[in-house]
Amino acid sequence: MEVIVTQTVEYIEKSRCTGCGACVNACPGGSVTMKADEEGFPYPSVDSSACNNCGNCVTCCPVINPPTIPENQEAPQVYAAWTIDEETRYNSTSGGIFTELAKAVLQQNGYVAGARYNDRHLVEHAMIDRSEDIALLRQSKYVQSETKDIYRQIEAVLKKGNPVLFVGTPCQCAGLKVFLQKPYDNLILCDFICRGVNSPMVYLKYLDDLESEYGSRIKLVWFKNKTFGWNRFCTKIIFEDGQEYLGGRDTDPFMFGYIKKDLNLYMRPSCGQCEFKGVKRPVDITLGDFWGIRLRESSDDTDCGVSMLMLHSERGQKVFDRIKPYLHYEKHMLAELVPFNTCLLNCAKQSEMRDIFWKNMLNDRFTDVMENMKTTGE
Ligand SMILES: Cc1cc2nc3c(=O)[nH]c(=O)nc-3n(C[C@H](O)[C@H](O)[C@H](O)COP(=O)(O)OP(=O)(O)OC[C@H]3O[C@@H](n4cnc5c(N)ncnc54)[C@H](O)[C@@H]3O)c2cc1C
Repeated sequence: MEVIVTQTVEYIEKSRCTGCGACVNACPGGSVTMKADEEGFPYPSVDSSACNNCGNCVTCCPVINPPTIPENQEAPQVYAAWTIDEETRYNSTSGGIFTELAKAVLQQNGYVAGARYNDRHLVEHAMIDRSEDIALLRQSKYVQSETKDIYRQIEAVLKKGNPVLFVGTPCQCAGLKVFLQKPYDNLILCDFICRGVNSPMVYLKYLDDLESEYGSRIKLVWFKNKTFGWNRFCTKIIFEDGQEYLGGRDTDPFMFGYIKKDLNLYMRPSCGQCEFKGVKRPVDITLGDFWGIRLRESSDDTDCGVSMLMLHSERGQKVFDRIKPYLHYEKHMLAELVPFNTCLLNCAKQSEMRDIFWKNMLNDRFTDVMENMKTTGE
């Protein structure tokens, strides 16, 4: 069994580590850092010569010490919703609810932390305090984001008393909550239904192949672009010389290996046994795609994107009440969501093809490996 040492006497199995980075943020002496493994996923690494065995990394690990869900938490209120701002809706992955939540928090002298692309197109968490920067955090990026020192940044702002909206995977939200060690009334925690995060290394290889094919550097990556509609989402890549790539949800090699036929070829191992799923959650709001939605009160074109919004707390309800004037929304039943969005409750399992993929990846280009897998199944 491969283990990750998070303290001289404590460990978790590597396959359970989500890479949320709470341990890195919790280490007072900087002896815990994230290092990429051979699949390109970040895992904590301890410099034992600098470690003073304080145990903070263990205390703040959400796998070892999962955050508790209040016993009196009721079943969540479920809404189908989308912003009335058509441009925001088009530019968002689902119905653009994240943007409306962010605007509401920023208006109150608040901060918003979410995932953005860096200048290498890798994904990392960052905090903003200006509405002009919301677009940096908007849209789903189907790659693991590095949290760096975001939990510490958030703690500093929370202590000053400003409101903070944090959006991240369920394991990152759990990581932040455990890192903080105490509740803050000015924190709004928002996770999403999460299929799982992919390897940054595979993603970079995919981008490299596209740059070689098009002979130009990539300027912008846009997953789940709505050129052909929300249901037939595609990946849009814009190159520096103005060329554009549009890969269909069933044909783009990166999306194929992620979602098609439940391949999950380069998803983080912990996602295949995610410990942060369920209906009741230790967050205020859960977002998602309301796949399969049948609107009752509106004849709006759902193919522009409809968000699923789940409210778990009074704080979540309050911020939802504030953004209601900027939304179309209608209440729905949880039972309408579950059949079309299995990742709310279930993990996307690692497929048997995963080992074959990684063996071939060592010798071949990503695109060639995927082409073979599409045509021959290997
Ligand atoms: C890796 C991943 C898997 C997902 N799987 C599902 C699923 O199976 N079913 C489902 O219904 N919905 C899933 N979602 C959520 C969905 O894609 C939308 O993000 C969500 O519905 C919110 O959409 P929106 O239009 O309101 O906001 P958007 O503007 O699309 O906002 C997306 C928010 O997610 C944050 N974010 C983006 N990428 C990452 C990342 N890599 N890590 C952490 N935070 C990130 C952004 O900062 C932003 O706050 C997933 C999202 C991601 C990132």
